[in-house]
Amino acid sequence: MDWLPPLVVFLLGLAVGSFINVCAYRLPRGKSVVRPRSACPACSVPIRWYDNIPILSFVLLKGRCRNCGAGISRRYPAVELLTGVLFAWVYFYVAAFSLRPFLIPFFWYFCASLVALSAIDIEHYIIPDRITYPLAAAGLALAAIYPARLGGGSLLDGLRLSATGLVVGGGSLYLIRVLGRVLFKKEAMGMGDVKLLAAVGAWQGWPPALLAIFLAAAAASVVGVAMIAAKKARWQSKLPFGPYLALGALATLFYGPALLNWYLGLYR
Ligand SMILES: [Zn+2]
Repeated sequence: MDWLPPLVVFLLGLAVGSFINVCAYRLPRGKSVVRPRSACPACSVPIRWYDNIPILSFVLLKGRCRNCGAGISRRYPAVELLTGVLFAWVYFYVAAFSLRPFLIPFFWYFCASLVALSAIDIEHYIIPDRITYPLAAAGLALAAIYPARLGGGSLLDGLRLSATGLVVGGGSLYLIRVLGRVLFKKEAMGMGDVKLLAAVGAWQGWPPALLAIFLAAAAASVVGVAMIAAKKARWQSKLPFGPYLALGALATLFYGPALLNWYLGLYR
């Protein structure tokens, strides 16, 4: 029965991914994420529970609304699958490194927030404060109750390390934002990106936060150049940076120390 817990975790992730879809649709539109029940954006007919099962319903309905036949974005099953995989990843990661089990729900929350804000940033080019502020607060709280994770010995130690990460992480991106404005007269970075990196710093401390920025910039460059080469984008195209920052933050959450060793090793 060793396969049962990971399976349950994966299914839980799918369900949370389904809720993230609701949030990603409603948060930027200023709607409640609790009520009313989900409805088709095209015909407004409420979606029945059996048409609202993560991934399965999308496959069975062939990506179309049962009532009006309007296409359902492939982003919905993608978000569900991604969240399911990340939930299982957290589970295996905590087991593999014998970390404290109470970290699992904390890491799930971290991953779910990043998936949600990425989905919103891709569609609306914003990262809502309603995601980044609670995320930053949770990072400070985790550092206070478990300071050893950031290398601290006491509650105050943990808070200091977390707050330093918040200031350095957010501050670095803010500096890049100001520089971009002065040098290129371009809005390369939104305040949402700055707040996201502040939250990441609060969770991971400052070295991983800076590494997350580096990884995000590298990934964005590769994808950007590939898209321009494929004529899907131009140099002037507006591209959301949130998903790349999220990717960097996930990489450092799981493999921060190993990646830092590798990165610093490049200069030895
Ligand atoms: Zn419909």
